[in-house]
Amino acid sequence: MATQYFNKRNLDFLLYEVHEAEKLTQFPRFADHNKEVFDMTIESAIQIADNLMFPFVKAVDKNQPELIEGKVSVHPSIKNYLKAIGESGLIGADFDYEDGGAQIPVTITSALGYILMAANNGMMYTGLTSGAARLIANFGSQELKDAYIPKMLEGKWQGTMCLTEPQAGSSLSDIVATAEPLPDGTYKIRGQKIFISAGDHDACDNVIHLLIGRIKGAPLGTKGISLFVVPKIRLDGSDNDVTSMGIYHKLGQKGVPAMHLGFGDKQDDCIGYLVGEENKGLNYMFQMMNEARIGVGLTGASIASAAYYAALEYAKERPQSRRLNQKHALDAPQIAIIQHPDVRRMLLFQKSVVEGSLSLLIETSKHFDIAEATMDEEEKRRAHLLVELLTPIAKTFPCEYGMLAISDAVQCFGGYGFTEDFPVEQFYRDIRITPIYEGTTGIQSQDLLGRKVPMENGKAMQFLAEEAGNTIKQAISDEKLSKYAILLKNSLEKLQKVTMHLMGIAGSGDIERYLSDATLYMELFSLNVVAWQWLKQGIIARQKLSESTIDNDFYESKIHTMKYFFHYQLPKTDGLATRLTDTEVLTIVSEKEYLM
Ligand SMILES: Cc1cc2nc3c(=O)[nH]c(=O)nc-3n(C[C@H](O)[C@H](O)[C@H](O)COP(=O)(O)OP(=O)(O)OC[C@H]3O[C@@H](n4cnc5c(N)ncnc54)[C@H](O)[C@@H]3O)c2cc1C
Repeated sequence: MATQYFNKRNLDFLLYEVHEAEKLTQFPRFADHNKEVFDMTIESAIQIADNLMFPFVKAVDKNQPELIEGKVSVHPSIKNYLKAIGESGLIGADFDYEDGGAQIPVTITSALGYILMAANNGMMYTGLTSGAARLIANFGSQELKDAYIPKMLEGKWQGTMCLTEPQAGSSLSDIVATAEPLPDGTYKIRGQKIFISAGDHDACDNVIHLLIGRIKGAPLGTKGISLFVVPKIRLDGSDNDVTSMGIYHKLGQKGVPAMHLGFGDKQDDCIGYLVGEENKGLNYMFQMMNEARIGVGLTGASIASAAYYAALEYAKERPQSRRLNQKHALDAPQIAIIQHPDVRRMLLFQKSVVEGSLSLLIETSKHFDIAEATMDEEEKRRAHLLVELLTPIAKTFPCEYGMLAISDAVQCFGGYGFTEDFPVEQFYRDIRITPIYEGTTGIQSQDLLGRKVPMENGKAMQFLAEEAGNTIKQAISDEKLSKYAILLKNSLEKLQKVTMHLMGIAGSGDIERYLSDATLYMELFSLNVVAWQWLKQGIIARQKLSESTIDNDFYESKIHTMKYFFHYQLPKTDGLATRLTDTEVLTIVSEKEYLM
C-alpha cells in the first residue's frame, strides 16, 4: 500500500502562491475568514481523510454494497466517515450562514474535496448530499430548508441527484417520471430512476432524493420538468413508498451503491414536495451544474493523484536493469526504475496532469467565488463567463487525461500494477466512470463548442484570452520563461484559427458537421488551458527561486514539469488542429453504412 495520496506542499502552492486564495477575504461574503481559518478547515479534512478514509480504500472496493431483502448494506467504515464529516461541519462549509454553512470559499472546499476523494473515492457520499442540500437552499421554500438541510449537513440524511431514467441518460428532456398535484399542495410521484448514486444505504437514517419529473399536462421537453424533494422516509416517520429495485455491480467506485429505484411502486403512495416553481426543475439543476461538474473534475484529479504518488513511491524502490549506457556492466547493481527515461516520462506525465488539473480546478473555483461574492457588476459578469467557459474543461480534462495518467501509473508497476497487491488497478477502474457521469465527455464537448465558445458573441473567449495574455506578458520578460510564453501565445493563436474555421461551418447552418469533432476541439482547448496553468505555476516558481533559497527543489521541480508539459503535451495540438480544419468528413451518417 502506498503511504501518500496527495501532496500538501503542492496544494498550498496552488492555493496560496499561484491563486492567492486569501485575497478572497476582501469580499464581504468571506470577510470573517483568513488564511488560518482556511488552513484549519483543510487540516480537519486531512484528519478525516488520513484516519477514516485512506485506511479503507481496499476494504470498500472488496466489500461492495449488496441489496438483500430490500435493504442496502454498505461497508461499516462509511458510517464512521459520515458521522465524523457531519460533526466537522465540512459537508456544508461553503453554504450561506443562514443555511447552516460557514461561507468558506468554494476554492477552499474544492481543495477539501480533492483531499477527501484522493484518500478514498469509494466513500464519495457527501458531495452528493451537499449538492442536493444546495438545491433546497437555493431554490426551496423556508419550510423545506428547515425540514431537510440541517440533518443533511450533519451527515445523518443522505442526499441524491435523481435524474437518470432508462430511456433518458444524456437526453434528460426525455424523462417520464410523473408528479400528480394533490389537494394539499404536495405531489404524488410515479416512475423509476436508475444509476442513482448513494440512492439507498444503511449508513444513514434517511435518503432525500432531489428528483426531476413531469407534472401532469406539462409541456414536452426541458420546459416541462419540475424538481421535487422526495424523502425515503417522511418527516412523520412513515414510509414514502420508495423501493430499491436493484443495485448495479460496477467496474469501480464500488463503495458507493448505484441504485435502481421505484417511486410509488408498492402502494402508489410516494409523496414529493415541489422545489421552487413548476416546470423550472431543469433550469435549477443547470444552475447547480457548474459545482457538480467541478466536483467530478476534482474526482478525476484526486484518483489520478493517489495513483501518481503510489507509482512514484514504487518507482523509487523497485530495482530493475541498469542505465542504458551501462547495459553490459552486469556486475553493477540494478538501478531503481525511476532512473529509466521511459519511467520518468510516465511519471512526469502523471505529475503534469495531476498538478495541472488541480490548478485549473482551483482557477475555476476562484472565479466561481468571485462571481458569487463581488458587488461589482462588470467583475461579476467576467467571473461568471469564465466559470461557464472553463467548467466543461475542468470537468473533462482531469477525467480523460486522469485515465491516461493512471494507465501510466499501472505501467510503472509493470506486472504488479495489474495485480491486486497494489492499489493502482483499483484506481484505474475507479476513474473510468468520471468521463461518463455528470454529462459524458461528448456532451461536455458539445457544450463547450456549441454553447460556451459562442456565448455572448464570444465574450467568454475574449475574457479567457485576456487572462492568458496577462500570464504571457508576465512570463515573456523572464529569460527562462519567454520561450514558453511564446509557445503558448502561438498555440492560442492556432486555437483561435480553428475556432474561426468551426464558426464558419456553424454559420453555414450545418450544426452536425460543426459539432462532429467537438471532443477533439475539447482536447485542443484543454491542452492550451492547462499549458496556461503550467506557465502560471512557472512564473511563481521563478519568482520564489529569485527571492529565497528555501524550498528550491520544490520550485525547480515545478519548472521542470512545466517544461515537460510544453515539450511533450502541447505539441499534440498540432495534430488536433490539423484534423479540426480538415475538410474530409468521415464520422457523419451517410447513405452508405461503413461501420460493420
Ligand atoms: C456509477 C454511476 C453513477 C451514476 N450516478 C448518477 C446519479 O447519482 N444520478 C443520476 O441521475 N444519474 C447517475 N448516473 C447516470 C449517468 O449520469 C448517465 O449514465 C450518463 O448521463 C450517460 O447516460 P446513459 O448512461 O444513458 O448513456 P447515453 O446517454 O445512452 O450515452 C451513450 C453514449 O452515447 C453518447 N451520446 C449520447 N447522446 C449523444 C449526443 N447527443 N451526441 C453525441 N453523443 C451522444 C454519449 O456521450 C455516450 O458516449 C450514474 C451512472 C453511473 C454508471
